[in-house]
Amino acid sequence: MLTLTTPLVDLHHHGLPRIGQKTAHALAVEIAAINARPDAREATVEDLLHYLPMRYEDRSNLTRISQLRDGETASIEVMVRIGGIIPLKGGRLKMYEFIGTDGENQIRAFWWNQIYLNRVFTRGSRVILYGQWKLNRYKGYFEVENPDYEILSDDDDEAEVTAVHTARRVPIYRKLGDFRTRQLRTIFHRVIAGLPREIPESLPAEVIDRCRIISFGEALRLAHFPGEDAAIEEYNHAHSPAHRRLIFEEFFWLAVALGVRRSQRISEPKASHIEITDRIREAVRAILPFNPTNAQKRALKEIVDDMTSDKPMNRLLQGDVGSGKTIVAVQAMVIAIENGYQTSLMAPTEILAEQHARNIKLWLANTPYRVELLTGSLKVKEKRERQKAIAAGDVDLVIGTHALIQEAVEFHRLGLAVIDEQHRFGVLQRAEIQRRGMNTDVLVVTATPIPRSLAMTVYGDLEVSIIDELPPGRTPVSTHVRGEDRRDKIYEFIRDQIRKGRQAYVVLPIIEESEKLDLRNAREMYELLRTGVFPEFGVGLLHGKMKPAEKDEVMQAFSANRLQILVATTVIEVGVDVPNASVMLIEHAERFGLSQLHQLRGRVGRGAAESFCILLAQFSKTKEAKERLKIMEETTDGFKIAEKDLEIRGPGEVMGTRQSGIPAFRIANIVRDQKILELARREADHMLNERTLTRETDRIIQHVRSQPRFGLARVG
Ligand code: ADP
Ligand code: MG
Repeated sequence: MLTLTTPLVDLHHHGLPRIGQKTAHALAVEIAAINARPDAREATVEDLLHYLPMRYEDRSNLTRISQLRDGETASIEVMVRIGGIIPLKGGRLKMYEFIGTDGENQIRAFWWNQIYLNRVFTRGSRVILYGQWKLNRYKGYFEVENPDYEILSDDDDEAEVTAVHTARRVPIYRKLGDFRTRQLRTIFHRVIAGLPREIPESLPAEVIDRCRIISFGEALRLAHFPGEDAAIEEYNHAHSPAHRRLIFEEFFWLAVALGVRRSQRISEPKASHIEITDRIREAVRAILPFNPTNAQKRALKEIVDDMTSDKPMNRLLQGDVGSGKTIVAVQAMVIAIENGYQTSLMAPTEILAEQHARNIKLWLANTPYRVELLTGSLKVKEKRERQKAIAAGDVDLVIGTHALIQEAVEFHRLGLAVIDEQHRFGVLQRAEIQRRGMNTDVLVVTATPIPRSLAMTVYGDLEVSIIDELPPGRTPVSTHVRGEDRRDKIYEFIRDQIRKGRQAYVVLPIIEESEKLDLRNAREMYELLRTGVFPEFGVGLLHGKMKPAEKDEVMQAFSANRLQILVATTVIEVGVDVPNASVMLIEHAERFGLSQLHQLRGRVGRGAAESFCILLAQFSKTKEAKERLKIMEETTDGFKIAEKDLEIRGPGEVMGTRQSGIPAFRIANIVRDQKILELARREADHMLNERTLTRETDRIIQHVRSQPRFGLARVG
């Protein structure tokens, strides 16, 4: 029987029309990837059904051409009459167009450069076009540019076409691998039809009652195929009863998982025992190269209070870029080491790990501690030796990337794990560390200034320390948006700064569609600056495709001012610290998100000299891009910027859940869905705390434990 837990690779065994083994397998691969499941066999029907439409279209009454108004966005069904490719600008640009009719009137649809469409549309194809229709007064008919389209006539089953694709409110899906919206719609329809009427509930009945939410099965069905009377706007804003139910569900289980984790922590004392003596205080003071700010002192005190208690620390250290989080973490590590424990510092990238190693070795140069770096570029033999030394307890402080430390290292006596995750967000990653043996103190350091309310949710089981003060003597970076016409002036300015002894970054965006193009861009810029513009200075190039050793060499040369200008892709975004650099020139600034711009800007203004961030914006800036750039000019406050960014882009993007590989939420959005979030949290707390333990409480705790993604499996 087909159920929600049926693996997608077995989908073809369930008698669904025209879903064969190939389709089943391809679906499984795509859905597994989205859900960060390492094996396609783990992807289930339930995972598939959580691939929700990106929008919905009301085709219950398709508009007739005769009813169109100029500028209206609508779906129109037409038959293709005649189409072809039109070369423009002497053949440098091509356009595909066709003339279609709904039996009464004609329209023209055209697409730029998509000449393959010439084979997609054939005379007589029935097509639904969705887009903005503009009246061409000269020709007297409506035209649409780059519309979404769906071809109807390749399906034999007329009844199904009507029931699934046209005469209703239809779901529009984002392309999934090779699956296009229409094929996905057919698959979803058949899968949903193949499921039993009754779909098991995992939420407690009393919660469903109290919150007046619809059943899980109903929600899954409606989220794909809204009913006849559904308010399409609610669906398009993810605010329909179906969406609300699915969103509630996601928040509820995360809240339960965080609650369970919190109570585990309270009930299990940690294995390490940390004390502070005068000798240790002195050791911590001795490593400080400067006077800590009050905010740094406060944060350290909070950390020390956790470390000296018998519960494992789970603390988030937040602070804007450049606020000096690293030294605070290192002080905490010194305390652990002085108490006889090992410590680790995990960085998100190799560049950062190397930089941390350099700084920390300097800070700890006069101590007897053994500091070792573990990176992927070590020779196998070296790596083995270091791992052995770590396992034997000979190394006090291990620095490496997340992956290396999590996967490959056994510690002798790990007492403190610091995770520098910058703006990545691994709520569930920490569980892994604690699984590895001791119930260790964990300090997460993040450069994403998350509004406190949000931090509570994302890092719901963490205490939060905030460094809200910059080290003294910093002048805020002044930021200017400039156009291409000012390029020469900008170069002059950079020259001037370098003559004053400063250094500069020139950053180019990564264009996802074409890594090759990025490289060429960065490399071309590098060549141009090195030979054409600044032949008198040292110019270096840094990009993600370089070997770690090469990257490190370039970074070292820049750190030591052997290079005055560093041309880079966004690999330098995270954490790079060269206080003498005073200019950050960002090319194509219109392509960057706010948090990214803020991070990049944070690379300058780290020393006493006045620093500048120049945002070179090209071509047509969209309204959103203009807004972003204006915010950058107006403020340097990371919290303000983060809030704006959340407004504009939503939290998934901002916090980089995508990169972290762990899909925190499939449907929910922490900003958009705050109200549901609060409700779900209240309900979860109520189930866990405010009532005496019942079988229902027991069941929900078992439920979250059984799901690997919450990382709670260890404790029985
Ligand atoms: P972030 O919080 O972005 O990780 P870092 O820890 O890299 O910031 O610190 C930024 C720079 O400020 C570093 O060069 C660091 O040595 C320096 N710094 C940190 N704290 C202080 C302080 N109290 N006084 C002076 N400089 C400091
Ligand atoms: Mg840092």
